[in-house]
Amino acid sequence: MSATTNTLFDVGDLPPLGTVPARMYASVLRPERYGPPATAFRTEVVDVPEVPPGFVLVAVMAAGINYNNVWAALGSPVDVVAMRARRGAREDFHVGGSEGSGIVWKVGAGVRHVRVGDEVVLSGCRWDEDDPDVRLGLDPMLAASQQVWGYELNWGSFAQFTLVAEFQCHPKPARLRWDEAAGFLLTGATAYRQLHGWPPNTVKPGDGVLVWGGSGGLGSMAISLVNRMGGKAVAVVSSPEKASYCMSIGAAGTIDRTRFDHWGRLPVADSRENKRVADGMRAFGRAIWEILGENIAPKIVFEHPGSDTLPTSVFVCAPGGMVVICGATSGYQADVDLRYLWMRQKRLQGSHFANPAECRATTELVGAGLIGPCLGHTYSFEEIGQAHQDMHDGTQAPGNLVALVGARPGEAAGC
Ligand code: NAP
Repeated sequence: MSATTNTLFDVGDLPPLGTVPARMYASVLRPERYGPPATAFRTEVVDVPEVPPGFVLVAVMAAGINYNNVWAALGSPVDVVAMRARRGAREDFHVGGSEGSGIVWKVGAGVRHVRVGDEVVLSGCRWDEDDPDVRLGLDPMLAASQQVWGYELNWGSFAQFTLVAEFQCHPKPARLRWDEAAGFLLTGATAYRQLHGWPPNTVKPGDGVLVWGGSGGLGSMAISLVNRMGGKAVAVVSSPEKASYCMSIGAAGTIDRTRFDHWGRLPVADSRENKRVADGMRAFGRAIWEILGENIAPKIVFEHPGSDTLPTSVFVCAPGGMVVICGATSGYQADVDLRYLWMRQKRLQGSHFANPAECRATTELVGAGLIGPCLGHTYSFEEIGQAHQDMHDGTQAPGNLVALVGARPGEAAGC
């Protein structure tokens, strides 16, 4: 049995291990504040959630910042609070945050695999373990009940305590500080599934892989993974500084996308504009050859910008290769010139986060030091809104972004 207390603790302070306060600080979004992330997020005092059977309350030490809560702050394309209200949720606010590191503080009935005091990292998706699809052995990421914690589901990691299912907890790599541990799992495991999870289109030694947004959260983890698998990552960037960062984490070469101007939806076939765009895509393809070798196309194109880049991704992908996409930063309506898809027998594959095995594999690679956590910048708790604003504006540091919650700057794990 855990104890409770009515004391409200400052961010950075915690009650004795296992004692749960009734109220806590959280960085909160509300529909009436939807808009620029810098002002949409605000620190408020909210109730600490109850812990149902199979669930775990975790004292958050640091939280990863991801693009999904840029969308949540904007209230577009989905109003997450309204979406949950339609499903019967009572809270009229959103506590975001889909990854983090922390200490298990209370366990619900039936929890068997984690204990109070365990140091954990948290994975970002949840499903009903009684879902018939899951019981039949389907990959749970394909189950109808699967949802993103801290985006579609409330009580994410931007708070002193967060509520997760037991199976979202993975052992924290001991060698990492709290902030280093908080920011690699969402982007890392998403990249792992994109690069490993869709056989036969997996990275083989020597394969070229085109990585859009190479200096971003996903891109930096993708470069690290491609390198580890013996592939050659061609990183797309938008500045010399981002190019240097990508080379420092193992890219085979970089392409500055600002040298090209053919991005976006495809124009009408047989028009002058159509020729301009086709020339732009061919020039981009030649820039890839300068890195991989004459006539060598990427076997995998690691997609997430969406509307602006998908036509080029499908064009430059190798015959029999795969464009694997998990997001749409520049817009979710995009064009495909189907001739390249069928004549060159390419695959366009959707991919979304990762199953528990993929999360664990990613955690173990980082834990063993075989790939880095690619921590770019650590913000304070009060800067959670600014962190999302920087991401929205594209002005963030290269790599993964994190905000401290319970941990002090530079604090190692160990309570
Ligand atoms: P990030 O850290 O902000 O990096 C994204 C990078 O994309 C930027 O650094 C930027 O690099 C590049 N970019 C932005 N706009 C672009 C455009 N119009 N054309 C080409 N490149 C562009 O974000 P992230 O964490 O890597 O996430 C990227 C996207 O994937 C987001 O939309 C996110 O929601 C999605 N995502 C989905 C999942 C999932 O499970 N489905 C998981 C993680 C992320 P340059 O300016 O240097 O090119």
